[in-house]
Amino acid sequence: MLKKILVLPGDGIGPEITAQAVKVLRALRSHSGPEFEIEEALIGGAAVDAAGDPLPQETLAKARQADAVLLGAVGGPKWDALATKLRPERGLLRLRAGLDLFANLRPAKLYGELIDSSSLKPEVIEGLDLVIVRELTGDVYYGEPRGARTLAGGERQAFNTMVYRESEIDRIARVAFKLALQRRGRVCSIDKANVLEASQLWRQVVAEVACEFPGVELTHMYVDNAAMQLARRPTQFDVLLTPNLFGDILSDLAAMLTGSIGMLPSASVNQSGQGLYEPIHGSAPDIAGQNSANPLGTILSVAMMLHYSLGAPLMGERVERAVAGVLRQGVRTQDIAAPGESSAGTGEMGNAVANALGR
Ligand code: NAD
Repeated sequence: MLKKILVLPGDGIGPEITAQAVKVLRALRSHSGPEFEIEEALIGGAAVDAAGDPLPQETLAKARQADAVLLGAVGGPKWDALATKLRPERGLLRLRAGLDLFANLRPAKLYGELIDSSSLKPEVIEGLDLVIVRELTGDVYYGEPRGARTLAGGERQAFNTMVYRESEIDRIARVAFKLALQRRGRVCSIDKANVLEASQLWRQVVAEVACEFPGVELTHMYVDNAAMQLARRPTQFDVLLTPNLFGDILSDLAAMLTGSIGMLPSASVNQSGQGLYEPIHGSAPDIAGQNSANPLGTILSVAMMLHYSLGAPLMGERVERAVAGVLRQGVRTQDIAAPGESSAGTGEMGNAVANALGR
């Protein structure tokens, strides 16, 4: 069946890295598997410049019709002084809301060849392969009431509300349990149930959903302990299930365990399996246009896309194997090269992965 992919290059290094991911998709298409139709549209600062809106109507309409969206990155100093609603990042937030992408999947996997890039000791990090499943459309970021006011005595006060409905917890828990069934069968649910009512409901609902997944082992952990355990013994985790706020923080910690920000993919999916796939890093304006950005986070986002939105998990695994093979051969972009080691450009790395797919 024909699958529609919308590519949103965005700003900074976005166009360079998405071009490599498209190269990989085209190389896959020439072998076998589903037929792809690849289209491009504007988002972020590029869309502000061309259409006066960081998420033009046309882009959102195309995204709604696509099976999956691949995003490079948005933002940069050129647009930093714009009003909030015109900021490039606003376009991305509206896209996430417009597609109701409630589940964010962030894998943190260590490639053995890059073990020395981590700030942790090799024996602590060896074999790291976890996924954080973060709820993305609820919690304190969206809870009402929220605001700021000046109290009677003149002191300023600001407030947000941590709130979760049962149905919101239920649907994200199901994503985590289903994912665990395809992995090592373990879910660790993160909360702060010792002090927060919202976390007590979170824990109860997750435990109820767990009854429907007898093949998955569920444990619970307080978020402060989870932060400690991620630094102490991260290989104990398989799937970490988190509310929005705790996941925001823990996923950056987990990402950094692997060494380079340029290596890490992410997926945000909705109830019907449609998804937005993007590397976790930003638009890196400091290296934009220099052909030195690492495209592997974007290429691995394509692997996730094949897995979760395009119904082609075996092709996703092929892309992952090609990336591992290229790293084994010693191909390195600047960010993952050892000091003094020669490095490949963005385009060369893309070519190396595309060529490795044929082998
Ligand atoms: P950043 O992730 O863009 O860059 C941080 C550092 O990592 C920089 O030194 C950069 O050169 C390096 N880096 C990032 N990606 C790399 C890659 N693929 N290969 C090699 N090195 C890489 O974060 P920042 O500098 O804080 O933000 C820059 C802009 O990106 C800002 O406008 C910010 O708002 C935006 N941003 C966008 C997203 C997104 O589109 N999802 C996410 C975060 C930040």
